Amino acid sequence: MSRLAQGWKLLRWREFRLRPIRCPFCGPSVLVRLCRDDDAAVRCLRCAASSVHLAMGWALRRVRPSLSGAAVCEFSARGPMVAWLRRSAAAVACSEYFADAEPGAFRNGVRCEDMQRLTYADASFDLVTHTEVLEHVPDDRRALRECLRVLRPGGVMLFTVPIFAGDVTVERAALDADGAIRHLEPPLFHSDPLRGEGILAFRDYRRDILQRLREAGFVESALLEALPSSPWSTRRPVLLARKAMN
Ligand SMILES: [Zn+2]
Repeated sequence: MSRLAQGWKLLRWREFRLRPIRCPFCGPSVLVRLCRDDDAAVRCLRCAASSVHLAMGWALRRVRPSLSGAAVCEFSARGPMVAWLRRSAAAVACSEYFADAEPGAFRNGVRCEDMQRLTYADASFDLVTHTEVLEHVPDDRRALRECLRVLRPGGVMLFTVPIFAGDVTVERAALDADGAIRHLEPPLFHSDPLRGEGILAFRDYRRDILQRLREAGFVESALLEALPSSPWSTRRPVLLARKAMN
């Protein structure tokens, strides 16, 4: 409930709406909108899933109707989607990125993983999922190759990033050889509920992310847009990338 509680700060009574939905995580429920034009202000009233997670849930159910027997790698460690994955899949490896912890180490029971150098063995997972992570990774091409490596043949990655209108991704920042951040565009920070502070967006993805996925070695990449999404917030497209069978 803490996520909903955080949301009440956004409440504007005139824009407040309720609507029945079938939540992909908790079933028949009610979608609540606290205000207009803010993704964060739309939640499932029962499980507090956000519009991003709801879009992921609907995409997951379409792409993998059953997760029984599946091994899943998810790059977050809490929330209604993680809880649903744990209930639905055979095994779920959850992690967070902590800048000051070694990949593979645990902090307060949560495994630390850096998407650019995963500690998982090759071909460990049937499904890799992440939401609003990749735009914060300095070397996303390396991260995509790592995700491909840990997927089993035929495995699928489903994820979200903010997708902007237009064709060519804008690199906003880069890491120099000494690890210093070089800004190519004015710094843009996305809110991070885990840390309570903003985290830097290294790029604004545009439609060529599909090409970037294929360049990383995925044989199929697609933008899943025609999903039942919340009627009030931006429709969040979900990206699909598939590893070759052999
Ligand atoms: Zn729900």
